[in-house]
Amino acid sequence: MYDLNQNFSRFPGGYLFAAVRQKKEEFQRSHPDADVISLGIGDVTKPLCPVVMKALEDAAAEMGDAATFRGYGPYEGYAFLREAIARVDFQQYGVKILPDEIFVGDGAKSDLAGITDLFSDRNRIAICEPTYPAYADSNVVGGRCGYFDEHTGRWTSVMYLDCTEDNGFVPEVPGMGASSPDIIYLCFPNNPTGVMITRSALQRWVNYALEKGAVILYDAAYNAFIETPDAPHTIYECAGAEQCAIELRSFSKTAGFTGMRLSYMVIPEALRCGGASLRNMWKRRLGARYNGAPYIIQRAGAAVYTPEGQKQTAQQVAEYKQNTKRIRAELEAMGYTAYGGTDAPYVWMKLPAGMKSWDFFDLLLTKAGVVGTPGVGFGADGEGFFRFTGFGTPERTEEALARIAKL
Ligand SMILES: *Cc1c(COP(=O)(O)O)cnc(C)c1O
Repeated sequence: MYDLNQNFSRFPGGYLFAAVRQKKEEFQRSHPDADVISLGIGDVTKPLCPVVMKALEDAAAEMGDAATFRGYGPYEGYAFLREAIARVDFQQYGVKILPDEIFVGDGAKSDLAGITDLFSDRNRIAICEPTYPAYADSNVVGGRCGYFDEHTGRWTSVMYLDCTEDNGFVPEVPGMGASSPDIIYLCFPNNPTGVMITRSALQRWVNYALEKGAVILYDAAYNAFIETPDAPHTIYECAGAEQCAIELRSFSKTAGFTGMRLSYMVIPEALRCGGASLRNMWKRRLGARYNGAPYIIQRAGAAVYTPEGQKQTAQQVAEYKQNTKRIRAELEAMGYTAYGGTDAPYVWMKLPAGMKSWDFFDLLLTKAGVVGTPGVGFGADGEGFFRFTGFGTPERTEEALARIAKL
């Protein structure tokens, strides 16, 4: 009899967003007339912008013509896209990343999972808490998390970097004498707290990784939402980051590609472990396990980097952010404490003393017909907090806020 990967049995039962959906549906069944507004999902709602649609249609037409049809493409992505990325996402910030250091993928979640192939199962991972769940989840399958302790809500082998009000939700590097992690996950602008890291704080993480021989996996999925002046637009603005960091980007929130699937990773040529080049390992891994992102989607992605594409996607991001800023401002006007919302489409609301995340979820759903995401779903440190997103329409967002004000 064959054997299964026993690590799968370590996943805890409930998946956060499934639980949210189930509660929403139950309420909807028992209150068929209720008009429920969701400010909970981390998914975009606006359609693809015109210049992206045009590229998609043109590329689809190319595929239907014998003269322009394309079969397998390069595993690492087409040069037209990698060159555009290097120019627009890095050169303009004074950072030299070569197209050769850019690897196109079909989504940051796949990339986060795939990159774990490069690391042995002896590595200790460090994760911010609260956190996007994919960092731990992608390591569970490889056996790097130990066991999920239902009591603490944490994985036994993971090192947690507490993100609390006291540190402004940006973790400091571990102090002297603390044990050090090997693989450090950082996500800024952050999901779920919505906060951004400063250049100097990020530089301290880079220095720490260089000193300890750790690698940083820097998830910059919300890069397009940054507006704080002097915030780092890529980790490679920090000195030495090319020797210790992989940066992940996604077209999902930037350009509304959640249903299209497109992403990229930067694995700098200078990133080495001992003598081994991680970039070369990843190339080999692609050859073994991947045949490249779809041509038409890559063409659509390249359209994002044209001047019109930059303008049209920035407009969408600005509209989401207007919602987010309104949410934060109105919550504060109601007397709540709220964080984030400036550099990300998320507002992280502090609940009144003693109130639990799921209790507030139930109250909000049943009394206001509004759905958000309980903070504790992002880890134990999220207890007592609640996440709202700016991905709704302005009208529905306003209506939801009016109902919350009446609570
Ligand atoms: C949405 C999101 C991503 C993007 O995932 P895709 O697989 O590219 O859609 C990555 N990281 C974080 C923190 C996210 O919230």
